[in-house]
Amino acid sequence: MKVDRIEYDGFGHPPNVARAPDRMNRSVFTLPSMDMGMETRRTTRALATEAVHAGRDDLAGLGLHAPPIDLSTTYPSYDSRAEAARIDAFATTGADPDGPPVYGRLGNPTVARFETALARLEGTESAVAFASGMAALSAVLLVRGSMGLRHVVAVRPLYGCSDHLLTAGLLGSEVTWTDPAGVADALRPDTGLVLVESPANPTLAEIDLRAVAHACGSVPLLVDNTFATPVLQRPAEQGARLVLHSATKYLGGHGDVLAGVVACDEEFAGRLRQVRFATGGVLHPLAGYLLLRGLSTLPVRVRAASASAAELAGRLAADPRVARVHYPRIGGAMVSFEVHGDPHEVIAGVRLITPAVSLGSVDSLIQHPASISHRIVDADDRRDAGVSDRLLRLSVGLEDVEDLWADLDAALGERAGTPAHPEALAQG
Ligand SMILES: *Cc1c(COP(=O)(O)O)cnc(C)c1O
Repeated sequence: MKVDRIEYDGFGHPPNVARAPDRMNRSVFTLPSMDMGMETRRTTRALATEAVHAGRDDLAGLGLHAPPIDLSTTYPSYDSRAEAARIDAFATTGADPDGPPVYGRLGNPTVARFETALARLEGTESAVAFASGMAALSAVLLVRGSMGLRHVVAVRPLYGCSDHLLTAGLLGSEVTWTDPAGVADALRPDTGLVLVESPANPTLAEIDLRAVAHACGSVPLLVDNTFATPVLQRPAEQGARLVLHSATKYLGGHGDVLAGVVACDEEFAGRLRQVRFATGGVLHPLAGYLLLRGLSTLPVRVRAASASAAELAGRLAADPRVARVHYPRIGGAMVSFEVHGDPHEVIAGVRLITPAVSLGSVDSLIQHPASISHRIVDADDRRDAGVSDRLLRLSVGLEDVEDLWADLDAALGERAGTPAHPEALAQG
């Protein structure tokens, strides 16, 4: 399913500029044409348009074109009575304080621009950004755990570290693993969260999100949407209360930002901000800037890389050296495949594609999940979840597809299991 259009004011308010920073109070001017003919303008915008403009609606009024980067850790206030009231309000609701920011751990205007934009793309009221995807997931678990709802129902496979965080109970949670059909039966009175990934890392298994959301009843469903991005799938429209991203991947898109974000309703966002404030997993403003910049090309990047990925998936499926190809029905830029031969030799054999963990960058990456991304998951659990020892996970970038195929073809070797570049193995 391809998402083409976004309701412009699905929550009854105009594009989310209210929380975007206008606090600089300098040279704020009204554009002459701003209030002319608004009624006749279209009320929906295409996703590609939102990607470029969301989070930036106030810039022209500020006399700016590029978003400003605010590196302040603290902010002056001569009125400490008013400051006290603002802090009390945050402690009650977790809403972003009105007026000037207070302290960098409480909120940052550059990061807020990214949050505003991502919420627009996911079709949620709010979004809360964190220092990494794992910090974002941790904050969700802490919100629910602090309410006495420590039990989590989850579907494998998940990203290896998410699996580990739950399995090891590092944050005091207790997990029940099930398949999508078993979610309803796995719920308990103390279940605080249902957690799924679709397409899942690394098998690209897909889940009927609407059906799982229904099975959750009143328990919040968290969908890790890192692989699909809002370009291909918007889980909130299918009933997910929480949409999580490792923004390190496609949202940033260039392999140079570590970040996480949760898109959700404002009530849950308030709790996430309170946890973020208290535990400190904040996103740096420079990262917020880079993520906002990354979003503007997200639809173009995802569609271009997906076209190449679909082509490569087809060629791999037809190749006798390949035993099995996993490619999602909704598309996307990830392809996983199982080889007849030694997967380590394919990793050693690539030259254009970079053998490295992570995904979602402009350049292509390949890795062996059983050795790297899912190494921390117990081997039996990993295999039960469909993560074969022969599985390779390819993140397709923006290179020319023929160049990518030439590299893969060479790396796959003459026949299954033949090293393409024996000298590379000799070098270790
Ligand atoms: C990478 C990843 C994460 C973790 O994100 P970090 O930004 O590395 O902390 C979570 N979920 C999925 C699906 C991922 O691929």
